[in-house]
Amino acid sequence: MVAKGFVLTLVEALFPRRCFLCQGRAAEGLICRGCRGDLVLNKNPCIICAEPMTAGSASSHHTALICSACQKNPPAFDHVFAPFLYTYPLKEIIHRFKEQHHLLRSRMLSDLVLREAFNAFDTPKFKPDLIVPVPTHWRTRLQRGFNPAAVLADAIGRGINVPVAMTMLHKQTFTPSQHLLNRRQRLKNLEQSFQVRTPKDIKGKHILLIDDVVTTGSTVGVIAALLRDNGAESVQVWALARTPPKWQQ
Ligand SMILES: [Zn+2]
Ligand SMILES: [Zn+2]
Repeated sequence: MVAKGFVLTLVEALFPRRCFLCQGRAAEGLICRGCRGDLVLNKNPCIICAEPMTAGSASSHHTALICSACQKNPPAFDHVFAPFLYTYPLKEIIHRFKEQHHLLRSRMLSDLVLREAFNAFDTPKFKPDLIVPVPTHWRTRLQRGFNPAAVLADAIGRGINVPVAMTMLHKQTFTPSQHLLNRRQRLKNLEQSFQVRTPKDIKGKHILLIDDVVTTGSTVGVIAALLRDNGAESVQVWALARTPPKWQQ
């Protein structure tokens, strides 16, 4: 095995440690301490879907916070972890991260973004058997250059030493711009677009599903249902960020 230290040194030599946002000196990680302080934490998430909530939108002050959507329609996943809100500066970081077409640089950025995210993680109590990234259709992937969820899954897999099933999920049809469709059309479109390649490999397993940003939770909800239908024991979702609530946008 190639010494990880050597590779890191090489990467650092190629890409000196400058803050990704302000170009100032970043002693450790992707961004400097000042910009790190600007990241917006997802402070009061629904304990199931991580939807950011105000204290007033919670069902009960005595029990843990569960949003009304999760109470009405309990999702197929057990839990979404999304430590940050998808807003500046993380929105800017993820945007640039998606524009990166150089694989080494993409990986380094994802490692560094992940390290930032890990600062917000408690020691993971959940030890998955298998990590599965949310796939993008090849046409979308070509436009973007790569699948950010797959890059993150790879970094997380190495980080917590869990195998990654890169091609477990297949996205069959090209999904047109989701915002042009209404919610029902969108869900139907989504349900039909994913396929599990080798169901025997997820049967009875605890699956960790990785996405870069969770917007409404409908994509990960549909995939979690598909994984459960194919015998997954449980499904957790990790993402870097959750879209802020409408009242904050
Ligand atoms: Zn900075
Ligand atoms: Zn919820």
